[in-house]
Amino acid sequence: MAKEVVIIGGGIIGLCSAYYMLEKGHKVTILDKSDMTSGTSYINSGYLSPSHLIPLSSPGAVKNGLKWMLNPSSPLYIKPRLNLDLYKWLFAFAKSSTTKHVNKSIPLIKEVTVFSQKLYDEIKQKDNFNFHYEKKGLLILCKTQEYLDEESKVVDIAKENGLIAKMITKEDLKIFEPNIEIDAIGASYYNCDSHTTPYEFMCNMKNYLIKNGVKLIKNTEVTDVNIKDAIIKNLVSNDKKIYADQFVLSAGSWSSLLSKRLGVKLLLQPGKGYSLNVNRTTNISIPAILAEAKVAITPMNGFTRFAGTMEISGINHKINKSRVRAITQASKKYYPQLDFTNDEIDNVKCGLRPVTPDGLPYIGRSSKCKNLIFATGHAMMGWGMGTATGLAVSEILDNINPSINIENYSPDRKF
Ligand SMILES: Cc1cc2nc3c(=O)[nH]c(=O)nc-3n(C[C@H](O)[C@H](O)[C@H](O)COP(=O)(O)OP(=O)(O)OC[C@H]3O[C@@H](n4cnc5c(N)ncnc54)[C@H](O)[C@@H]3O)c2cc1C
Repeated sequence: MAKEVVIIGGGIIGLCSAYYMLEKGHKVTILDKSDMTSGTSYINSGYLSPSHLIPLSSPGAVKNGLKWMLNPSSPLYIKPRLNLDLYKWLFAFAKSSTTKHVNKSIPLIKEVTVFSQKLYDEIKQKDNFNFHYEKKGLLILCKTQEYLDEESKVVDIAKENGLIAKMITKEDLKIFEPNIEIDAIGASYYNCDSHTTPYEFMCNMKNYLIKNGVKLIKNTEVTDVNIKDAIIKNLVSNDKKIYADQFVLSAGSWSSLLSKRLGVKLLLQPGKGYSLNVNRTTNISIPAILAEAKVAITPMNGFTRFAGTMEISGINHKINKSRVRAITQASKKYYPQLDFTNDEIDNVKCGLRPVTPDGLPYIGRSSKCKNLIFATGHAMMGWGMGTATGLAVSEILDNINPSINIENYSPDRKF
């Protein structure tokens, strides 16, 4: 039976959830507090990356995190502040950062990213969808032997998990990128990865949804939730009450603010990342991550995007210039022929990744609320996991077994 569904948040997760619900005949409305033209789902690096097998919460992250915390231009920064939610999150993050957790998470993450990529393939084939999508793999460039050795271990793990990956030499890099000099001692290469131009996909998807009857209500912030006997009665926005049979919470980094109203304490921290575009030819043709600097470079449709940093400093969109400089300077060190104009640097954007302490998303229902599906917490992987998450949300709605195993993604899980 067709249900009336309201989705809170129209980023990649909200749009993909609407897409699959629409396919199943449900009546869907998306509410978003923004004008739905910018934000994390628009400014990200566009990677569909099964290569990203290792969750953020890993023994290496704690080691590097402690080292980087004192450096204002480091790739990971946690701003010390008196905030109980942050302390709980940090404690849970440290607790999750074990080899056992990493080993358990690898096949889970791989399942979602590989399946999601397949679903992007399917969408790409449809009429009305004409977004930039290329399968050129991903290079992880290393300048030091220490990082090259680490990457080699990850390549082995990827191969054990059935992904196509290999180590390549400095000489090979010239064949991969013949038109630009690369200063690195070697790299890993993931044939299995692909990339997109996010803005194009988001615009295609919004147009498709509107054309097929989904209501997109912009500039409308959900400020409260009325709940009784574990059922949401209505949402509140601008003193108006909004009713539906079922609700989806896909409000990205803001999700924990609303979930508190339901009595569900989602551990979630916004992880700010910066992104800037070079609208000139750079001669970079293959996406690359700069291993030591954690900068992601993507040749998109008509421009090259440079993105990086994970700044845990609460919900804010302040631009920290030293971090932006760290991205451009690192890029120039790996690609010495690159240059950035002041305009390109001044046009930097930032977005907030919804980061969970264990590096796994929240997908599913909570025992505290029977007519709400959680779909958030995808951190650095929300783009690459968007389609599979959307499909899973629609399957949960229809009470059928989700195509991905969501057992480990419960919003009620304890850390
Ligand atoms: C620099 C950078 C690079 C990245 N690169 C990649 C990548 O290459 N591959 C990858 O897989 N992932 C990447 N990510 C991560 C990915 O972009 C995110 O995980 C993903 O976009 C999150 O999508 P979302 O829909 O959960 O949240 P969002 O895109 O943040 O959407 C949430 C929406 O909810 C709305 N909202 C919030 N609160 C309310 C409310 N109360 N009422 C109404 N609306 C509300 C917001 O306005 C927003 O539009 C990157 C992120 C960054 C910052």
